[in-house]
Amino acid sequence: MRLDAAYVKHLAAVAGFSSCGISKAGVSSSHVEFLNNWLKSGFNAGMRYMQENVSLRENPALLLENAKSVISVVLNYFPAEQPTDKNFVISKYALGQDYHDLMKSKLQNMLDEIIKKYPEIRARVFTDTAPVLERYFAMSSGLGYIGKNTCLITPHSGSWVFIGEIICDAESDYDSPVLINCGNCTRCVDACPVGALSEKGLNANKCISYHTIESKEKTPSGIAEKVTNQLFGCDICQDVCPHNKNTKYSTCDELQLHNAVQNIVPEDLTEISNREFNRRFKGTSLLRAGRKKIIENFQNLKTENR
Ligand code: SF4
Ligand code: SF4
Repeated sequence: MRLDAAYVKHLAAVAGFSSCGISKAGVSSSHVEFLNNWLKSGFNAGMRYMQENVSLRENPALLLENAKSVISVVLNYFPAEQPTDKNFVISKYALGQDYHDLMKSKLQNMLDEIIKKYPEIRARVFTDTAPVLERYFAMSSGLGYIGKNTCLITPHSGSWVFIGEIICDAESDYDSPVLINCGNCTRCVDACPVGALSEKGLNANKCISYHTIESKEKTPSGIAEKVTNQLFGCDICQDVCPHNKNTKYSTCDELQLHNAVQNIVPEDLTEISNREFNRRFKGTSLLRAGRKKIIENFQNLKTENR
C-alpha cells in the first residue's frame, strides 16, 4: 500500500492543520545518541517518563507493528489577542484551549478520511502524550528545523506550533528536511535567564517553564530568584527568535485567548477551592499545573509583577 502524499496533505489542510509532511518511520542513530546523552546528563529533571520507553522512542515499529511512515502535522497556536494589561506572563501555548484533545480530534478526523481511501491501513494518532520523537519527525518531514531553543521552527509560524502525527504501515513519497537553520544566531541562548540552553539541549533542571508547569516540587531557590514575571511557563527563548517575528495569527477558534485565562486574578486563587479552580479553568492548560502550583508561582514573581 502506498499513500497519495498530496491527498494526505489535502486532508491535513481540511482538518485545519497549518502544514503536513511525511517521513520514514525511522530515527537516525545520531538523534538517538543525542537523546541518550541528554538523558545521561539528567536534563530531563523530574520527567522520569522520558527515561522510560526509550526503545519505543527509537523505534516507532514498537508503537505500531510494521510502521513505515510518519505523517507529521503542525498547528499554529499564536493567538490574535494576548493579555496586555497584566504584569505577569502566561505562556502563549496556554492562552487558548488545551491542545491535547483538539489535536487528537483533528488527527482522528484526518485519519478517518485516510481510512476511507485506504481501508487496509493500520495507523495510530499521537500528540505529545506518547513516546514519539515529534520534533524529529516533523523536522524529517520538512516542516521545520530544531533550533537552539530546542523548539521546532517552521517557516510560516515560527515555533508557535503544536505537533502531532499519524504513524501508519503504508509507504509514501517522503519529504526532504528544510535547509534553514540558526546559523550564527545565539539570541535564545543569550536571553535565557537561567542558562538552560546549550549544545547539549535544554536542561530542564534550570528551565523556568519546567519549574512553573511540569515540576511537582517547589521551584529551587537558585531558579526562583531568576523568575521575574513568569506565572505559567516562559516564552523568552521563543520571543527573541527572529523566526518568530511576523508570525501569522492562528486561525483556529479554540486557540484564541480563553476568557478564564484572560480574566485570571492570581491573588484570588487562594480564596477558591480546587474544585472551583478546575471548573473555572476547565479545558485550559492551566489545569496541568493546578491551583496550588500557580499560587506558588505567583508568590515567586518579583514584587512589582505581583
Ligand atoms: S523557557 Fe525560559 S527558562 Fe526555559 S530555556 Fe527558554 S528562556 Fe530559558
Ligand atoms: S533565537 Fe536564534 S539561535 Fe535561537 S532558535 Fe532562534 S534562530 Fe536559532
